[in-house]
Amino acid sequence: MEVALVCVGDELLAGDTVNTNAAWLGERLTERGVDVDRMTVVPDRVAEIARTVNEDRARHDAVVVTGGLGPTHDDRTMAGVAAAVGRSLAASDEVFERLTTEGGYANGDLADGTTHIPEGARPLHNPEGVAPGCVVENVYVLPGVPAEMEAMFETVAGEFEGERRHVGSVAVDEPESALVDRLATLQERFDVTVGSYPGEAVRVKLESADEAELEAALEWLRANVEEA
Ligand code: ATP
Ligand code: MG
Repeated sequence: MEVALVCVGDELLAGDTVNTNAAWLGERLTERGVDVDRMTVVPDRVAEIARTVNEDRARHDAVVVTGGLGPTHDDRTMAGVAAAVGRSLAASDEVFERLTTEGGYANGDLADGTTHIPEGARPLHNPEGVAPGCVVENVYVLPGVPAEMEAMFETVAGEFEGERRHVGSVAVDEPESALVDRLATLQERFDVTVGSYPGEAVRVKLESADEAELEAALEWLRANVEEA
């Protein structure tokens, strides 16, 4: 399963807020065996959101959108997603019921637009806040507040699946450029994907669908480099 992620928010582009949602979702989806193919950050503008979601949903199995859900003037995500799927926004009776019964909100407490989701979308309850999310066609819309996004993602996590990958890494105390030949050999000999991430040491990360293959590759690598 291939997934694209769209994070919405002027504050992310301005660097005011660090995009921790992208890292968290990337990790959770990857550990479920999903290929995360693209992450895009877009401003709080309906046309930009619509264009990106539309492009992504055509090219990927699913799109996860986070941020900009609230009913305030700068929250445009629902309108953008609705435009991307060619539906209008409509008040959801199901969301209203849930907020006024379980949520304990009175009708007058809810800001205008709080219960609006694209017509025919499946609402997602927000266990940590007010603004609902939704699923419409292959687009999952989650809030921006990290605790809310994480709690809501967990309610749909089972819908994201792929081949689980086994992962292991070795910290190497050699310059990355010196490793080129050995990493090429590793990739030739074993059915693994190899990533190398320089830092204080070079972290060489191996992934495989086959656990025994991963272990054999890790063993070969450890025997052929200077470990940090
Ligand atoms: P609310 O329902 O509270 O209105 P929302 O879904 O509209 O939430 P935003 O208004 O976009 O979300 O953002 C709410 C808060 O979450 C802001 O403080 C914002 O900086 C933070 N936030 C939004 N997106 C991200 C992200 N990708 N990573 C980390 N924090 C984020
Ligand atoms: Mg926002």
